[in-house]
Amino acid sequence: MICELCGADVPRLKNVAIESTILSVCGDCARFGDEVASPVLRRSTMPPIIAQRLEARQRRMTPKDVYAQGGELELAEDFPQKIRSARESRGWKQADLGAKINEKASVIAKLESGAMTPGDALVRKLERELGIALKERVQPVAVKKQAARAGLTLGDLVKLNDDEA
Ligand SMILES: [Zn+2]
Repeated sequence: MICELCGADVPRLKNVAIESTILSVCGDCARFGDEVASPVLRRSTMPPIIAQRLEARQRRMTPKDVYAQGGELELAEDFPQKIRSARESRGWKQADLGAKINEKASVIAKLESGAMTPGDALVRKLERELGIALKERVQPVAVKKQAARAGLTLGDLVKLNDDEA
């Protein structure tokens, strides 16, 4: 006999009411609902409690939550272009920008060609003087992997439930 909730093959099943749906489930899954004498009305839709759990899990994986947990700030890949275009939009030569942040024009040239990666202190000076953001918030790799597995089966869900219990 196959449990309709977790798919376990067990000798006997119990009929339980989960919200308003009657399911034949194993003893382990019976705790999700109230046991009933015999099946009455059956619905083919996903049991509401499962739908709710899936929905809650999906909400936990939205990008908004990732940002709330705080991704990491990393130097933008196109920082050379960002520096150059911000400088040029102000009509400054490389030496002009250098003078404002106490760096040689050659340092600005290296930054704008990508030959040099600025350290945190230099990034802050450039951001302040140019009025731009050179760092971007990136998703932690672990979260990306987790999101890739967002497609869940009921079996996964029961495992998930056990993990959280
Ligand atoms: Zn079960």
